[in-house]
Amino acid sequence: MFIAPVAEAIIGATFFSRHISMTDIEKPTNFIQQIITADLEANRVSQVVTRFPPEPNGYLHIGHAKSICLNFGLAEQFGGHCNLRFDDTNPEKEEDEFVQAIIEDVRWLGFNWAGEPRFASDYYDQLYSWAIYLIEQGKAYICELNAEQMRDYRGTLTEAGKNSPYRERPAAESLELLEKMKIGAADEGSMTLRAKIDMASPNINMRDPVMYRIKKMPHHRTGDKWNIYPSYDFAHGQEDAIEGVSHSVCTLEFAANRPLYEWFAANLPLPSVPRQYEFGRLNLNYTMTSKRKLKQLVDEKHVDGWDDPRMPTLSGLRRRGVTAASVREFCNSLAVAKTDGVVDVAQFEHFIREDLNNNAMRAMCVLNPLKVTLSNYPVDQEELLSAAGHPNRGDLASRQLPFSRELYIDRDDFSLDSTLSRKKFKRLVLGDYVRLRGGYVISADDVVTDSSGEVVELICSYVPGTVGEDPPEGIRPRGVIHWVDANNCVDCDLYLYERLFNVPAPGAGEGSFVEQINPESLKIIRNAKAELGLGSAVVGEHYQFEREGYYCVDSKYSSSEKLVFNRTISLR
Ligand code: ATP
Ligand code: MG
Repeated sequence: MFIAPVAEAIIGATFFSRHISMTDIEKPTNFIQQIITADLEANRVSQVVTRFPPEPNGYLHIGHAKSICLNFGLAEQFGGHCNLRFDDTNPEKEEDEFVQAIIEDVRWLGFNWAGEPRFASDYYDQLYSWAIYLIEQGKAYICELNAEQMRDYRGTLTEAGKNSPYRERPAAESLELLEKMKIGAADEGSMTLRAKIDMASPNINMRDPVMYRIKKMPHHRTGDKWNIYPSYDFAHGQEDAIEGVSHSVCTLEFAANRPLYEWFAANLPLPSVPRQYEFGRLNLNYTMTSKRKLKQLVDEKHVDGWDDPRMPTLSGLRRRGVTAASVREFCNSLAVAKTDGVVDVAQFEHFIREDLNNNAMRAMCVLNPLKVTLSNYPVDQEELLSAAGHPNRGDLASRQLPFSRELYIDRDDFSLDSTLSRKKFKRLVLGDYVRLRGGYVISADDVVTDSSGEVVELICSYVPGTVGEDPPEGIRPRGVIHWVDANNCVDCDLYLYERLFNVPAPGAGEGSFVEQINPESLKIIRNAKAELGLGSAVVGEHYQFEREGYYCVDSKYSSSEKLVFNRTISLR
């Protein structure tokens, strides 16, 4: 289903331009697919090359997943390939930890990039020689305005900027100064390399943007080779050109940068000219999708790391038990449009539940255990009942459920109020019957209370012969409840998550988003009782705890001493 790394030799350019037709590929549904189809049909493009270009300054979040699914999906649909490229032009914020996490997340989503991951830093030499080229052509210059002066000279949205006094300095002088910057012989902030474009342009991006600045800081990959680093704007388009990216797909905020990328393309001897198309980023209500803000949550320890199961990061979603398939299905359901919008997080939750409902193994776990003793069940007897692994998935192994005289049911499944109607309370009351899921019909005869009057145990009777069989005439169970065998079960802790933010647009209004964190977003249940088979549950499996919700083993806190489950999501 997903694009495998493709050898360019196999996928020849002419092969695709001749053979791809509207019948070979899925019907185009979004504007980018339509553009690519037209480009292929008109022979403007022979091979579709896309890329996903994260900056390794944080972990990927659900917003990035939209871009990943789109870029890898287009490459797959049109028989091309997609690169994974790290835009690592800012050594201050970038780390190898983030590179590794991003690689893991893209793989987890199910995508393979062409060849090795690429890095902007691989192209530093090439970018530097293009900077020299622009100076030689009289199209770039070293400017010695400081940051504040530069701001003053830049003008505003309504006012043209002013030319820098350094703008017309001879190329030879600029070349000399650039070399000085590069070798570390100039102070940080003392000079920059700027493109010579138009200080009066209505587009501020075109007002002699900075191409290189001095940063005497080691880089996670190039070490201390460089004392200058290219700006994102100078690097990004050229990286695409080096990689032969045919369709450079990005989010709307880069639309205003496109004329600048086109200016570089027109003024440099690039090996190819990528075309940029912008689409609306994914915004989800109740969810924050900004790496910078998510990093603040992590750094200030409001959450348990980047992979806290309440985080909208891909690693957080994975740890929480959200499947990669549901993330992909959700992303593929989203409009790829030229406007930004806000998607209801309930739409994402729908895909999470749907995939888990179809694929998660069923199991029973009693969150709030109440002991039940079956007074008419022989003291030393034990039997093994069998239950389906999934109601309509014969391929999932069935389960063995030990059954004995002592059981646990959930406290909420018993009421002392026997007057509750059968319709309202389809659970256990004194003098009436329920069916134990996959087991016998039982009735409640008596309660044992402690000194404070709290019910600590139920004395019940079971109705023999009712496993998988209707009870005798006159016995009508009120409902079906879950249970576990008290003598053969495993203890576990359950981490129940709610939304991290209770406000629809965290971080949008006044005040800090930190104050909008939902204090109830994590509730821990200790010593829940799970059916015996769950003792061998492992990370990566998904379970529906019947009548409770979807759960998975926590990859961080679960151990051989203590089984810990995360609630992925409640039942509807
Ligand atoms: P953030 O705003 O969270 O810091 P970013 O855009 O700075 O994100 P990058 O690493 O630059 O993060 O993003 C890599 C790619 O993912 C870019 O092409 C960007 O357009 C895309 N992307 C980032 N956020 C979203 C989003 N919410 N929806 C769709 N695409 C996104
Ligand atoms: Mg960015």
